[in-house]
Amino acid sequence: MTAPLVVVSGPSGVGKSTVVAEALAQDPGIWLSVSATTRAPRPGEQDGREYFFVSPERFDELVATDGLLEWAEYAGNRYGTPRAAVEERREAEVPVLLEIEVQGARQIREAVPGALLVFLAPPSWEVLEDRLTGRGTESPESVERRLQAAREELAAAGEFDTVLVNADVRECAQALIALVADAHRNS
Ligand code: 5GP
Repeated sequence: MTAPLVVVSGPSGVGKSTVVAEALAQDPGIWLSVSATTRAPRPGEQDGREYFFVSPERFDELVATDGLLEWAEYAGNRYGTPRAAVEERREAEVPVLLEIEVQGARQIREAVPGALLVFLAPPSWEVLEDRLTGRGTESPESVERRLQAAREELAAAGEFDTVLVNADVRECAQALIALVADAHRNS
């Protein structure tokens, strides 16, 4: 038996990181995978904590050696889930969360039978737009690319096992923990 793999996906700006951080604070028994990315660190981000920040060449190498469980290009950068750490945790009966965008979630659906796919939706398009434009960490071009991606990603909600609407972070995190616990009981 292995512990469940739960994917949290949804458009940039929907609050995935906030909900996931709250869920981990409430349930430290869940492990969040740390992705590799070719994007530059934002102020305050630390290598190995938010991401493994890697060069495009290193990312190519990870892809070529089958080191990633899934990967995707998003708003001009590449992001991927290191395979080994996820498998080790699951075999040790630790439930694993992935916080990834929609193309990656689709790959997990194909590659990992039994994975639970959760889509995090904003209460409205206006709320999402406000969050993306008001973040202050992105250039206008990056905001525009993320808005475009968000439109496409919202349309994918129906492909997921469950949709959670992020109207309240605590409630949403609790709902996510309950889904992980259910998946663990049934795995
Ligand atoms: P950001 O640049 O804002 O940290 O992330 C951009 C998007 O990439 C977010 O939607 C985030 O969830 C997604 N992402 C982060 N890590 C991964 C990953 O390993 N694989 C995929 N497919 N998407 C990821």
